[in-house]
Amino acid sequence: MSAGNGNPDIVHVVGAGLVGSVTAIGLARLGYRVKLFDRREDPATTLPDRGRSVNVVLSARGWKLLQTLGLSDEIQKICTPLVGRAVHPWRGEIREQAYSSQGDQIWCVERPRLHQILARAVARVDEIECHWLHQLESVDLDQKLIYLARSSTGNEDANEHISTEQVQESYKRLLGTDGAFSVARSQLLHHTFDFQQKYLDVAYREMQIPSHQEGGPHLALDRFHVWPRGRLFLGAFPNQDGSFTGSLFLPREGFPSFASINTKRDFAGFLRNFFPDLEAWLPQLSRQFLSNPSSPMVTMRCQPWILDDQLALLGDAAHAVVPFLGQGMNCGFEDAGELCEQLIAHDHDWGVALPAYEKRRRPNSDALAQLSLDHYEHLNHIPDPLYETREKIGAILDEIAPEKFRPLYELVAFTHIPYASALRLQQLRHQTIETIVRDLSFQQGCPDDARERIEQHLEADSP
Ligand SMILES: Cc1cc2nc3c(=O)[nH]c(=O)nc-3n(C[C@H](O)[C@H](O)[C@H](O)COP(=O)(O)OP(=O)(O)OC[C@H]3O[C@@H](n4cnc5c(N)ncnc54)[C@H](O)[C@@H]3O)c2cc1C
Repeated sequence: MSAGNGNPDIVHVVGAGLVGSVTAIGLARLGYRVKLFDRREDPATTLPDRGRSVNVVLSARGWKLLQTLGLSDEIQKICTPLVGRAVHPWRGEIREQAYSSQGDQIWCVERPRLHQILARAVARVDEIECHWLHQLESVDLDQKLIYLARSSTGNEDANEHISTEQVQESYKRLLGTDGAFSVARSQLLHHTFDFQQKYLDVAYREMQIPSHQEGGPHLALDRFHVWPRGRLFLGAFPNQDGSFTGSLFLPREGFPSFASINTKRDFAGFLRNFFPDLEAWLPQLSRQFLSNPSSPMVTMRCQPWILDDQLALLGDAAHAVVPFLGQGMNCGFEDAGELCEQLIAHDHDWGVALPAYEKRRRPNSDALAQLSLDHYEHLNHIPDPLYETREKIGAILDEIAPEKFRPLYELVAFTHIPYASALRLQQLRHQTIETIVRDLSFQQGCPDDARERIEQHLEADSP
C-alpha cells in the first residue's frame, strides 16, 4: 500500500471493530478520507470487564497487515507466544502437541486490549474522523444515505443511553464492517442476494482461571490448553499476568448443557464428572459459570459482498465462521489488505476493484468456514485406535513432501496460502493417509519400516 495518492474521496466505514479499524487505517494510507462509525463508546478510553471478553490468536495472516500498517511492534508487546497445545485427557498424562515441526508460534492477545490499541491507532490518523456511539439503523442504497442513531452517552449493554437522535449522512462509498449481525449487510436482502446462517448446537461461556500465584493450577504458559470431552470441551489461553481465559463449549440443550446446569450443585457435579483435575477451583469457576453470559456460534455465508461501486462488506459482516481455528479476525485482516491491494491495482476505480476484491476473497472465506467446522471435530476428537497411526503417517508424509502434505493447522496459521488451497491440500492429505492405512494394512499401527513403505507407495502412485 502506498500513502497519499491525492484521492479526495470520503469513504464511510460502519463498524470500528477489529476489521473496521484496520480497514480505515489502510484506506487513509491510500489517501482517502474516512468517516468511521461505531455504536459503542470509544474503546481507547473504556475496557470491558473480564468475563465478557475472549482472547484471540494472531497468526501470520493477521501479522502481515499489522506490519504493513506499522502496528505490529506495539501489538506484539501485549501478546503471549504459544508453541502448541496441551491436551488434558479425562484420565492419564497431558499430551503436548507442537503447532509446527519448525517451532513456529502463534500469538495470543486479550481482545479488548488489541481493540484498544487499534482504536488509539485510528485516533492518531488525521484522515480518519471517528464517530462513536453512532449506531447504523438503515441504508438507502438508491439515495446513498445512511441513517444512524447517535447516543449522547452510555453503555448499550447496561441500557444506560441518555438520549438518542437520528443522524443522516450521504455517502459515495460505504464499507460494512459491523460484524456478524451486520445492518449494512441486511440492506442487501432487498436486492438479488443469497444469505445463509447456521448456528452450532454448542455455545460458549467465558471463565477466568486464576494464575498459579493466586492459587490457580500449574499450567504451561506457552500452550493453548484443551480438555476434549466429546461434544463439550474447555479451552484456555494464557494471559500475560499468568492467568488463563477459558471458554467452556457446551451444548445449548440436552444433558449436560447450558440449559441443564443451573445451580452450584449442578455445576459441582458437572466439574467432578468431566473436569476432575479442575475441581480445586470449583468456587471461582462455579461463580463465573452461573453469572457469565453464554454466546452462540454461527457460520454465516452470503453473496454478493458488494453493490456496484458503492458498497462492500468485510470481516464478519461478510463471513462469520465458528472460532475453532482462530482465524475469523485473521481472515478479516486479509480482506482489508486485499481491498487496498485491489484499489491500487485498479487505480482506485471502485467499480472494478470491488468485484476483484470479492472474487479473491469469497472462495477463501467459504473454505475457512468449512475448515473451522472440521477443526471443531478435530479438537473435540476422542482418540480412536487408529488416531496415533494416522498421526504418524501424517508426520512421515510431512517429512517426505512438506509442500504437498503440510498439516492443515500449519498451512492456516503459518503461511499465506489461500484458505481454499489449504482446504484442497487438507483433503489430499486426508485421502492419502486413509489410502496408506488401507493399502499397506497399517490398521494395527505403523511398522518400523513405515517410511520406506510409504515412499514406495507414493512413488508407485505418482503418474
Ligand atoms: C469465542 C471466539 C474466539 C475467537 N477467536 C479468534 C481467534 O483466536 N483468532 C481470530 O482470528 N479470530 C477469532 N475470533 C473471530 C473474531 O473475533 C472475529 O472474526 C472478528 O472479531 C471480526 O471482526 P469484525 O471487525 O469483522 O467484527 P466485530 O469484531 O464484531 O466488530 C464489529 C463492530 O461493529 C460495531 N457495530 C455492530 N453493529 C453496528 C451498527 N449497527 N452500527 C454501528 N456499529 C455497529 C460493533 O460495535 C463492533 O465494534 C473469535 C471469535 C469468537 C466468538
